[in-house]
Amino acid sequence: MNLKTVEKFLALRGHKKYRLRQIQNLIYKNFISDWNEAAILPKDLKKDLSEKINILSFAVKKLIESKDAKAVKALFELHDKNYIETVLLETSSGNFSICVSTQVGCSVKCPFCATGKLGLKRNLSEEEITDQVLFWNQYIKKEKRKGRVSGVVFMGMGEPFFNYDLTAQSIKKLISPDFFSLASRHISVSTFGYIPGIRKFAKDFPQVNLAISLHAVNNILRNKLVPLNAEFPLEKLSKVLGEYIENTHRKVFIEYVLMKGVNDSKKDAEKLVKWLRKVASAKYFTINIIPYNETVKRFKAPSPDQAKFFESQIQMLGVAATIRKSLGSDIQGACGQLAGKRANKSKKAKKD
Ligand code: SAH
Ligand code: SF4
Repeated sequence: MNLKTVEKFLALRGHKKYRLRQIQNLIYKNFISDWNEAAILPKDLKKDLSEKINILSFAVKKLIESKDAKAVKALFELHDKNYIETVLLETSSGNFSICVSTQVGCSVKCPFCATGKLGLKRNLSEEEITDQVLFWNQYIKKEKRKGRVSGVVFMGMGEPFFNYDLTAQSIKKLISPDFFSLASRHISVSTFGYIPGIRKFAKDFPQVNLAISLHAVNNILRNKLVPLNAEFPLEKLSKVLGEYIENTHRKVFIEYVLMKGVNDSKKDAEKLVKWLRKVASAKYFTINIIPYNETVKRFKAPSPDQAKFFESQIQMLGVAATIRKSLGSDIQGACGQLAGKRANKSKKAKKD
């Protein structure tokens, strides 16, 4: 929801100014999803709002729950008929983490990623980004689910640092006591390695977690997996990560999508650790090994044993590593599977 629009609306329709604060609390603290739930507002204002102001900036088209009920994916239709997806994930502590999108599609075009296959359609607005978190809070309330939203990861569709300003505005709202009151340290932003974005982020949000999608530590392979590596190669990434750690003293999360026969050997593990140790002391890194979700046929998932083996190699070399449990792969809601069915359909139609 856009509070500026509401403010103007209240003035135009001659409602009291202080209603704005009440509305803000109803939306961001009580998580009402219908104006009729706003018991403290007078009838005429409720009617006015119901007719003219949408609480969410998109329409909910589909909700799919995973078999184990630990993940739910939502498909939203934006005002211009573009589609985005977002996922609610139950965490081990019984709370929820939300994976949000920042763009429709993505211009980085990593060949293994379903979003990358779409190319970039457009950036999401601040409202569209933040409303994904608002929606899941409403959902938890409506469905009477136990637990609360305790974290947000910017790991859905798109490259957050290519939509920096609006992503930053959204993070500010997530942290703000007037809105979601989330702890900075429970928010993570994942980038393919956009150097100017990392620099700016270190200054603007030193307390918010930074995750780097690394996947390979030699330029030949990384150029293939992350095409923009050609422009922002590993040497530059290494330098900026070193600076980041020096300036913020924060850990960096390394995401490593493990693909069978591509980057999953013992040698790959050794080279990865060597590369990280050159950047900074090993204590500054945690490697999230993400077994590939087979969205693009060309790439294959490693066997569970191979993933375990890779993890143990890294740990033996003294770097923290965990295999990311793939929540919700049966709903195509795990990392990298967020593409928006409609967008896929339109692509197919073009081909035919
Ligand atoms: N564009 C940003 C954030 C969105 S992608 C980035 O690349 O970091 C979020 C994560 O999902 C990235 O680490 C990406 O490499 C990973 N990912 C993409 N496709 C995947 C797939 N099919 N299986 C597993 N992980 C995938
Ligand atoms: Fe974009 Fe991230 Fe997918 Fe690469 S992995 S195409 S950067 S969303």
